[in-house]
Amino acid sequence: MNNEYLPQRRKERKDENLNQRARFRAFFFPLFSLFLLGLWSCPKPQPVVSASNLPQYKFAVAEVVVTKSAICPVCLRPVFNCEVKDSAREEFFEGLSMALAKKGFGMVKLSLAEASAEDKKKPESWLPLARKVKSDYLLLPAIYCWSERKGSAVASSSPAEVGFHEHIYETASGKEVWGGNFNEKQAPLSANLLDLQEFLKRHGQWIKADDLGQEGSEKLLEEFLKVMAENAANTGH
Ligand SMILES: [Zn+2]
Repeated sequence: MNNEYLPQRRKERKDENLNQRARFRAFFFPLFSLFLLGLWSCPKPQPVVSASNLPQYKFAVAEVVVTKSAICPVCLRPVFNCEVKDSAREEFFEGLSMALAKKGFGMVKLSLAEASAEDKKKPESWLPLARKVKSDYLLLPAIYCWSERKGSAVASSSPAEVGFHEHIYETASGKEVWGGNFNEKQAPLSANLLDLQEFLKRHGQWIKADDLGQEGSEKLLEEFLKVMAENAANTGH
């Protein structure tokens, strides 16, 4: 038996093992580094608010509370009143239903013929109806300003102005989950570049109160969904 043989084989095996380890390192180390780099450089995914990944919420919308008071009768926050035109309620509903439809949400308009004006300002008056129509949320709107544009779309002496609150309650619990305020007057076209950008965004025209109202409902809905997505991310739901 060759005495030299065994140590030689061991050495070969050892060399083979070393080669295998080297190959393993050469292959996995860059892979592992890439993985670490990926973890470090990938931004944390942010919740995206778009119609495609939203649950199909159903909103029950209460009758609009119109106020001439400087305090919102629903949430008691101070507001800046302006003239409220007669068709404000209808125009508001039109804008809100368009905004909800754009997100793919359902809307049921509630009506309480028997209730007093005082009771209609309270969410408790609407919640049983909102539950009956199996909605996810009750939306109680309050308009404190809805003034029409004076003049035409191309030459306005006084632009449209709208102001309203949208109070949103979870139908099941009755808890107020969100409240939003939109108060905007289409800015007069001055030398201000921001005004000009906004003006051009509206196709270089003076828009009417109903269009401004729809813009407002879309904006508030966007804010509401953002807050709900953030809350869901924080609570892990
Ligand atoms: Zn309010």
